[in-house]
Amino acid sequence: MLQVKNIHFSYKKKTVLKDISFKAEAGEYIAIIGESGSGKSTLLKVLRGEYDLNKGQVLWKDEDILGPKFNLVVGYDFMKYVAQEFELEPYISVEENIGQFLSNFYPEEKKQRVAELLDVVELQSFTKTKVKLLSGGQKQRVALARALAKQPEILLLDEPFSHIDNFKKQSLRRNIFSYLKKKKITCIVATHDKEDVLGYADKMLVLDNNMIVANNTPQELYSNPETPLIASFFGEFNIINNEIVYSYQLKIVAHSNLKVKVVQCYFKGNYYLIEASLNDEVIFFEHHSAIKKGEEVFIK
Ligand code: ADP
Ligand code: MG
Repeated sequence: MLQVKNIHFSYKKKTVLKDISFKAEAGEYIAIIGESGSGKSTLLKVLRGEYDLNKGQVLWKDEDILGPKFNLVVGYDFMKYVAQEFELEPYISVEENIGQFLSNFYPEEKKQRVAELLDVVELQSFTKTKVKLLSGGQKQRVALARALAKQPEILLLDEPFSHIDNFKKQSLRRNIFSYLKKKKITCIVATHDKEDVLGYADKMLVLDNNMIVANNTPQELYSNPETPLIASFFGEFNIINNEIVYSYQLKIVAHSNLKVKVVQCYFKGNYYLIEASLNDEVIFFEHHSAIKKGEEVFIK
């Protein structure tokens, strides 16, 4: 189990993490979400012992994760980390990058292991390609496979799918997260993409203003978003009579006390997002078909 106990961290004078505490059981996936600059990457770096804490403690099982003041080499064998700006060896092949830290003493096992990971990240056809010739998204997939090569107990991922295009993203997420569950690898992922969280994460930590403002299951936070920040993570929403209402929760009706005027209509695939004005306020709701600008409708 990972235990994070009341940690405080600042870069020189600038406090980034204030009194952060949470736990992750073996095999659990914890998503860390928050706006850009909220401290997600810093938290992951602190978890791997890249910095010395001002206060608090990070424990993996019974082992203290310590910063550079106490450790000559940053990082631990049981923990792998893939940074937002991942680093690879550009002049060697994909398979050599993935297998770089695997023993050459068992060539058959090494080959099999690399092949298994190439499957997970769907890079079978690039086995022999030099990494410098890959796209950003392909490089990110190599970085993920490399982190998994020597199976870690805990994996820290910083925006792991940010460079990967939408064509590949969905199947890659399914592969990676089911692989991690199957192997019971604890995983902490910093992200601002709800697609990385919904359907996969066991818990979701929300960072705001240097602190954890929510720690719950994605289902619970989605159903009861306590703050606009949490609601905005999941989608378009409105505040009506001090209540957070997602755009999909509003429907057009024959009559109601909410009469709005359509301002803009956005095609979203299986629905249209309608931007409308209610007096001076902007209201978003969803509808199955397009509505003309200027039309007045009632919503509920
Ligand atoms: P996020 O990953 O959520 O976007 P970061 O952890 O990267 O946030 O950054 C949190 C805050 O710490 C930001 O205000 C950022 O400018 C600052 N920061 C990040 N890295 C450093 C650093 N090496 N030195 C000083 N300040 C930093
Ligand atoms: Mg970041």
